[in-house]
Amino acid sequence: SKAALFDADNKVKITFNDVAGLDEAKEEIKEIVDYLKNPTKFTKLGAKIPKGALLIGPPGTGKTLLAKAVAGEAGVPFFSLSGSDFVEMFVGVGAARVRDLFKQAKEKAPCIIFIDEIDAVGRSRGRGSMPGANDERENTLNSLLVEMDGFATDSGIIILAATNRPDVLDSALSRPGRFDRQISIDKPDIIGREAIFRVHLKPIKLSPDVDPRELAAQTPGFAGAEIANVCNEAALIAARSDKEAVDMKDFQDAMDRVIGGLEKKNKIISPEE
Ligand code: ATP
Repeated sequence: SKAALFDADNKVKITFNDVAGLDEAKEEIKEIVDYLKNPTKFTKLGAKIPKGALLIGPPGTGKTLLAKAVAGEAGVPFFSLSGSDFVEMFVGVGAARVRDLFKQAKEKAPCIIFIDEIDAVGRSRGRGSMPGANDERENTLNSLLVEMDGFATDSGIIILAATNRPDVLDSALSRPGRFDRQISIDKPDIIGREAIFRVHLKPIKLSPDVDPRELAAQTPGFAGAEIANVCNEAALIAARSDKEAVDMKDFQDAMDRVIGGLEKKNKIISPEE
């Protein structure tokens, strides 16, 4: 909500089991779980623990989910905010919010800070639009850089940030000691989609004709968020006709709906790009 400065979740229940597919990304990010659980294993050998990693990939592919799972696996609090919240902010508010976030995170360390849509604040400075228009965004970005530089690598805070526009990010963000790790999160292939279907089919009462492999085959180009959406739509459609279980026809109708929604969204979005 707009009133909250940022979200804090002290008891994250999501684990790697909730994240289907993304095997390589999971493998890479497991190291961060290890840093959080076992910092001295690294620091006693003189290793500097990274402060931040960038999760790069298209919308709905599970970046937020994976970041949360890191907190869940390590058993640490999860602080999050979205870069897009800063876009229309009054002077001083964005920078103050960043400072406040880091202050609280330091008190709760070890912990994860997650910044969704970091490109909204982290666009390279002085890029595009009228002079002055981006002052507050730049203030916010500067305060983020200052805060990142201001804590020790062994302070137990790890910052994960997500973007689908790595190309527009200010190069200051990827300097050593900042977001110097990059983890790419791609749209799932057919195997990944089947795995994601299996996660989201679990709570649903299914008719025996429902085949996750077939569902995966019929949803090329779908991200995890759309697959989750299909599963819930199918259950809603079945409930509407008072069925005892959700069948393949309900999934077919749900897929048509989700595809229809995506087409509409693309029509609105495409003139900009
Ligand atoms: P955005 O860039 O739009 O913020 P995102 O990459 O952060 O998207 P999430 O918010 O993590 O995507 O995904 C939205 C929802 O889609 C998740 O809460 C989950 O229900 C489902 N989902 C996405 N990817 C996966 C996955 N790999 N396994 C299981 N569920 C997934």
